[in-house]
Amino acid sequence: MIDDDDINWNFFEDDFVRELDSWFSADIKCCHHCYEDFVENWPMSLDRITGANSIEVGNFYDGSRLREMYTKKQYLDNIYRVKCPRCGIGLESIFWAFEFDFEDFEDLEWDFHSLKNDIRETPFLVLKNDLANQTFNLLEKLSNSITSELIEVQLYRGRILTSDKPNKSDFLAPPKVITNEGRYNHLGVPVVYAANNSKTCFNELRKPEEHLYIAKFEIKENLKLLDLSSIEDYEESDLLKAIVVSSVISSKADDNSKHKPEYYFTRFISDCCKYLKFDGIIYPSVQIGIGVNFVLFNTELLTEKNINKIEKYN
Ligand SMILES: [Zn+2]
Repeated sequence: MIDDDDINWNFFEDDFVRELDSWFSADIKCCHHCYEDFVENWPMSLDRITGANSIEVGNFYDGSRLREMYTKKQYLDNIYRVKCPRCGIGLESIFWAFEFDFEDFEDLEWDFHSLKNDIRETPFLVLKNDLANQTFNLLEKLSNSITSELIEVQLYRGRILTSDKPNKSDFLAPPKVITNEGRYNHLGVPVVYAANNSKTCFNELRKPEEHLYIAKFEIKENLKLLDLSSIEDYEESDLLKAIVVSSVISSKADDNSKHKPEYYFTRFISDCCKYLKFDGIIYPSVQIGIGVNFVLFNTELLTEKNINKIEKYN
């Protein structure tokens, strides 16, 4: 070990980054200073990308060859010299190092911002935006390779109802006049939202403490669905992978606000899908990161006839 005076600290950051690369094959994506901003932009990434765990600076030292170059005190006293590439602040306690499974995440982050802005300002002209255009072209390409197939699935739909004896009709899609804007539907355009298990319904409805009823219904139809929960199956899906983990489709919206910018891009995706003759979209649950949701554009896919059970959720 070398005395402090003899160390050229200019190389400390390089040593750190080299060790990080040899251990994790990854760069720093964020630190505890910029974690919230990162998660705001990439809400699903830390849940869904393998290896996206936090790393504590001390533990990193203990497991790395930095032990052979610096004493722990030297290391901890100088860890501030390693700057987080996202916020430029020196590391202190924890950081996240992993790789996205797509390229150029920084450029994409910027493009997503400008796309959301364009949707807010001029929603009907969004196809003038490059990224929107690329997304449409990608979905169009996918659409050619996805065929309608027999889907046999049990789905669950939750409603908060104060009545003790809910009717099957309570679970059908709402009429146009009372249909609010949702993640995948415009104001006044009803769709059927459902999940593949009752726990996801509970989470999607923000964990109500009481009055939650869940209807179980069966779908047995030929449907063409875009499955955003298993995009690994689609080729050339880098942009789609980025879309799924980024804020453009996975931001949590403020339930009490009429203004829901978090839903701009998802409603654009559902417009593309409707135009491309998809019957619906399967998408990962934003609330917990497990379970999947379905949005079905044809509200007649859920009728009183295919509801086979209504249960109170405990
Ligand atoms: Zn940072």
